[in-house]
Amino acid sequence: VQLFVPGETRLHEKRVALVPVVAEKLTKLGIEISLQPGAGEAARIPDAAYEKAGVRVAEPPAGVDLVFRVQPPSIEEIEQMKPGTVLCCFVYAHREAPIVQALRDHRITCFAMELVPRITRAQAMDALSSQAALAGYYAALLAATNLNRILPMMTTAVGSLRPARILVMGAGVAGLQALATAKRLGAIVEGYDVRPEVKEQVESVGGKFVDTGVSASGTGGYARELTSEEQAKVDEVLTRHIQTADAVITTASIPGRPSPKIISESQIRGMKPGSVIIDLAAEGGGNTPLTEPGDTVEIGPVTIVAPLNIPSHLAEHASELYSRNLLALIGLMVKDGELNIDWEDEVLTGAVLTHDGEIKNEAARKAVE
Ligand code: NAD
Repeated sequence: VQLFVPGETRLHEKRVALVPVVAEKLTKLGIEISLQPGAGEAARIPDAAYEKAGVRVAEPPAGVDLVFRVQPPSIEEIEQMKPGTVLCCFVYAHREAPIVQALRDHRITCFAMELVPRITRAQAMDALSSQAALAGYYAALLAATNLNRILPMMTTAVGSLRPARILVMGAGVAGLQALATAKRLGAIVEGYDVRPEVKEQVESVGGKFVDTGVSASGTGGYARELTSEEQAKVDEVLTRHIQTADAVITTASIPGRPSPKIISESQIRGMKPGSVIIDLAAEGGGNTPLTEPGDTVEIGPVTIVAPLNIPSHLAEHASELYSRNLLALIGLMVKDGELNIDWEDEVLTGAVLTHDGEIKNEAARKAVE
């Protein structure tokens, strides 16, 4: 198997889809690896480190049958790939229609990392989780550096400073890391989520779960719609917590859809002077109506910070985890040094976006065709 790893071409992407330690493991599977010169530069991984790991640092050889990337390739790159090439990268089909069409038309077998099923067996391949965990950690650091006060309690000769209060809204993978990190930095941390079952997870990282006194649990484990009185009650409790926090970190997202707005303009305008919102949902438009994705805005005395592509700020570790996710995925496909895709495997059938001239993922097909 000939693997090629190109340099990333999208603006602000600093990650790379392969790191040297993972290259060594892939080589043991019988994979021959080429990497575009300088592909690791933005993540500060020099070509020499790859060469030491047995990677050929050069332009793509003839006969590449496997390509690893972080972001989707350009149409020109797709046109240069031979039909049947296996490509693994993030795609987000609903916002990349021309790319998905080109992958289909050039008969590329593309596994989209955001489609890997979130089942126990696929945890090692779950790049959404590996990248979200790093983003959550970074969000807590952003809260710390954007506040004009400190997170921990500090006792000094002239008296004590009170610890900061941090509220994390959306206690999934990113939210839990944000909670754990802010807790380690000494803040008083609280977590909220529409899924009440995360209460124990919030508590396990040292947070207090915000109990709105309303359960949205319906039959069969699904959330039910709240009545208007119940919604008002939830809003009242959340407003109190938002407006007594020094920093609010929001991480709410709905797969394939714009980010839900979970803090209103009036809630923001009532926040404490000097408080900050770190909006991790900027990529999907943000969790507040005042968020400017990719920018920092001041709303009166409140600051909203909404960076894009946070994992790129931690490019070395983000690349390392992502690369390991790819190694685990490819482990399902390579047998005796040959690519051999088992189309009965639910991880592969879940993650495949295009194959054999067709868009295999139904939601993507609807969005694109
Ligand atoms: P996500 O990034 O899609 O969303 C982040 C969080 O925001 C979620 O916890 C969600 O419930 C919450 N949210 C959505 N709308 C909200 C709202 N209006 N107000 C408040 N919170 C809101 O989710 P994620 O972090 O990628 O994953 C969520 C969960 O999925 C994880 O906590 C975990 O339980 C599960 N998961 C399972 C596996 C696995 O079994 N392999 C892998 C990954 C995740």
